[in-house]
Amino acid sequence: LASRDFHPDNTVIEVKGVKIGGEDLVVMGGPCAVETPEQIDEIARLVKAAGGQVLRGGAFKPRTGPYSFQGIGIEGLKWMKDAGEKYGLLTITEVMAPEFVDVCAEYADIMQVGTRNMQNFDLLRKLGTIQNPVLLKRGFSSTYDEWLNAAEYILAGGNPNVMLCERGIRTFETYTRNTFDLAAIPVIQQLSHLPVIADPSHATGRRELVETMTKASVAAGANGLIIEMHTDPDNSATGDGVQSLFPDQFANLLKELEQLSPLL
Ligand code: PEP
Ligand code: MN
Repeated sequence: LASRDFHPDNTVIEVKGVKIGGEDLVVMGGPCAVETPEQIDEIARLVKAAGGQVLRGGAFKPRTGPYSFQGIGIEGLKWMKDAGEKYGLLTITEVMAPEFVDVCAEYADIMQVGTRNMQNFDLLRKLGTIQNPVLLKRGFSSTYDEWLNAAEYILAGGNPNVMLCERGIRTFETYTRNTFDLAAIPVIQQLSHLPVIADPSHATGRRELVETMTKASVAAGANGLIIEMHTDPDNSATGDGVQSLFPDQFANLLKELEQLSPLL
């Protein structure tokens, strides 16, 4: 079902008037994690003002260690929904376990599957039973074939609204947090009809590389971007501050992108 062989036309996912996978680039921006109602409200305002269409933010965080901040939980989903509605943005949030799919789908428009859960097959099967769009991140050690097979689980369950997100893979290089596999964008678009979203934030792990790799993603044909942005990334961010753009950097980047590809 994911293969272009059996579905030659690009899939365009439409959510509340926003088309993902169509002519226009879709930009998702926001913090790594939802932290407070004020934080997510202010960042939503900035994402909208910059021209973004989707507010990102994790309420359930898949942290490498158990003692790191694990996310606000359901309360955070509510704050994000309020902020999205107030500013007219769609919302995307990560869902980590099958039993939380329904509550996440109640509060957020798009379900994110993180890199660590790409092959959580129970989660994928559960996401196949709803109709909310799913952004499926590539496992950091997964091949294209494994990634497309993970998408297949969701599609086979009856949810056709899947987009694929390249967020970097693990290589021997340690300077960047991950190695951004830019070629994944055109390769997946050749193999599949599903929209491809690039995540230059997690792919590089370094704020100073995000702008360049965002433009590279657009040049490579990405249908959209998911970019971390925070009002105080160096001090108050609970995670991923070093890769999060400042609001003015985010706004400037979107302005420059308009010249590369029309925003909605
Ligand atoms: C995130 O988007 O904040 C995140 C945890 O991403 P990934 O699963 O790609 O590490
Ligand atoms: Mn993050």
